[in-house]
Amino acid sequence: MSSLGNIAEIAVAAPLPKTLSYSVPESLQGSLCIGSRVKIPLGRRTVVGFVLDRSDGDKNGLKPIREILDDDPLFPATLVPLFRRVADYYCHPLGQVIATALPAGLAGRGEPPPILWETFVRPGENREQPRGQQQRNILALVRKHEEVTLSELRQQFSHVHAPLKRLVELGMLQTRKAEKIRDPFLDWPTRGDTPPSLTQDQQQTMEQLAPLLTDGGFHACLLHGVTGSGKTEIYLQSIAQIIADDRQALVLVPEIALTPQLVSRFRARFAPKPEELKENTVRIAVLHSGLSDGERFDTWRRIARQEVDIVIGARSAVFAPLSRLGIIIVDEEHEASYKQGEGLRYHARDTALLRGQMEQSVVLCGSATPALTSWQLAAGGKARLFELPNRVAGRPLPEVELLDMKQEPFGTQLSQPLSLALEQTLEKGEQALLLLNRRGFAPFMLCADCGKTFRCPNCDITLTFHRQERKLRCHYCDFIMKPPDTCPGCSGCNLEPEGIGTERLEMELQELLPDARIARMDRDTMAAKGAHRKLLEQVGRREIDILIGTQMVAKGHDFPDVTLVGVLNADASLNFPDFRAGERTFALLAQVAGRAGRGERAGKVIIQTYEPDHYALDCAARHDYQGFVTQELTLRQALGYPPFGYLVNLVLSGNQADRTRDAATNLAQRLLEGTKVELLGPAPCILARLRGKSRYQILLKATTRQPLRQALHHLENMRQPVPSGVSLHVDVDPVDMF
Ligand code: ADP
Ligand code: ZN
Repeated sequence: MSSLGNIAEIAVAAPLPKTLSYSVPESLQGSLCIGSRVKIPLGRRTVVGFVLDRSDGDKNGLKPIREILDDDPLFPATLVPLFRRVADYYCHPLGQVIATALPAGLAGRGEPPPILWETFVRPGENREQPRGQQQRNILALVRKHEEVTLSELRQQFSHVHAPLKRLVELGMLQTRKAEKIRDPFLDWPTRGDTPPSLTQDQQQTMEQLAPLLTDGGFHACLLHGVTGSGKTEIYLQSIAQIIADDRQALVLVPEIALTPQLVSRFRARFAPKPEELKENTVRIAVLHSGLSDGERFDTWRRIARQEVDIVIGARSAVFAPLSRLGIIIVDEEHEASYKQGEGLRYHARDTALLRGQMEQSVVLCGSATPALTSWQLAAGGKARLFELPNRVAGRPLPEVELLDMKQEPFGTQLSQPLSLALEQTLEKGEQALLLLNRRGFAPFMLCADCGKTFRCPNCDITLTFHRQERKLRCHYCDFIMKPPDTCPGCSGCNLEPEGIGTERLEMELQELLPDARIARMDRDTMAAKGAHRKLLEQVGRREIDILIGTQMVAKGHDFPDVTLVGVLNADASLNFPDFRAGERTFALLAQVAGRAGRGERAGKVIIQTYEPDHYALDCAARHDYQGFVTQELTLRQALGYPPFGYLVNLVLSGNQADRTRDAATNLAQRLLEGTKVELLGPAPCILARLRGKSRYQILLKATTRQPLRQALHHLENMRQPVPSGVSLHVDVDPVDMF
């Protein structure tokens, strides 16, 4: 018997509570690895599964594995403990955890994208010169570059086929086939920048970090640095150390499409130039949801073969199949987009911390406004804290003014002081950025005669008016209707758009400042692939004077000539019915304010609000993170909310409202009997109807994790937690509770 093990433990991408055992046929003994994707019989079907382990034992009664699906395993054995841990932590079937981690098409019935092949041509043994001119030209080119692709030859010469065939016959050239890797980032910047000499704060941070980077152990680190303090430089230099040690780095960012500058900076430091590609240089890959399936599949396989040293990616890249991981960086670690909202509801930062523990690597989380939970980890000694309290080059943080909208005429959207400041900024030839966190023209359409509004038939929400396309649109389910000419309620003709969205702001601002070059950045204008990068480059080249947008404009962009930042409705996020509303508002304002005055000239921020005395706004205006945290923590402690307690949200949804409500009541009762957690609800979700489904939630709360784990265990062991027609989602550590 082979010592590799004649029995394989296999996870199937289906809601099965346990893994399965299969026997390894003799013919597959040599090629079957942990991480291999295989076909196995299950009941009367054949399904796809993933090999998690091999062991020796009695294989009597076990069915054999049918076939191995790929040449190489899709993930290294080092990832298996993480998959198991995540499945356990988030109460999700192991096979579906793996399916979430892998690129689309690899987990289920769908076929993976085809592998593309490319022909390479290089000099052969025969060193003579051929006779024909065409042959001589081709040969000269190949000999000069040592190796070229067939497609490159075709670009250079009009007839390639016949002369190439002849040259190969003569032994002057050889061809080989290799996989062609689809990588949309290949034409992005390559190595060229030189590391700056560090500021004193940066230097101090690096000195304390260095021993942690080299000792080969797990360390949770929190880098709290104000906007523009040079956190990225800390990331770059930490990675350089890890790579010098022949280990790998994983960099998580909230959303790649929104932060092309960051990818450019990493490539400018590490990506090899085309002529260096064949040498043993640092290799960098970018993984995110904007890739085509083929690009994603190729990138994944390159990483799984350990051909990559640095992976940059969004949320799901936390599962990138690196096997010698030395550091995981989580940039803007407070961002809500790190939490997946459906299926496996994991948080990429928390998963990174689990992974760091399992694989003994450093986890460096950075933010100007760390999540309260992260801050509390550091305060409790569970994470090391590093601080960069100043901007680079002694630049000041911008002056922030809270503009009390109660003093402005009723109904004002753009206050007098803000429009004046815009004019002045334009006169000085500087740039401005305006945040209005609401897309479309107007948040609703109102009949001025009878007060009728238009609501989505599937969701508990009003329809947003989009003027250019003349549609009323639901921002949750994308329901669309044409606005009627007359009111269906009273047949009146006075239907009017109420309130303001980015589309309207752009139009009104253009009327106010006809010479200004204004651009808008929101989900409607940024639908096309690469649209963000193009627009951000335009802003960088100063072809735009005013950039308007939703919170997309607040992300880590670095534009030195932006000197004015305006926030139109700071209160919208403040008044959200969620215990994290204050934290989120503070972070958003600090982030968007951080876009002002990053260059030589000082910046100014104007925040329009009806609640200028609210502590979240007041602290944001004074750049006082500590002050905010102190007040917010007091509130949280009083309520027992995170970081002083732990939450699990159970969301039930179904087509029938009363059936769903009864199921929730019933489930809550059964949970109360079996556990010691505090139970809030059941209550209708804030969005009580979404995409045609009625929704109820039960919030479980406890001061430690243990009773929550018990409750989840109890839930897992229930024979039928919810009746048919109702579905149940478990959200561990929920981030939003709509
Ligand atoms: P953060 O990520 O903290 O917002 P960045 O890393 O983007 O800050 O740095 C802000 C700006 O300062 C960038 O333009 C960066 O190139 C520059 N910078 C960072 N560190 C240094 C340094 N040590 N010397 C000079 N410039 C620096
Ligand atoms: Zn809807």
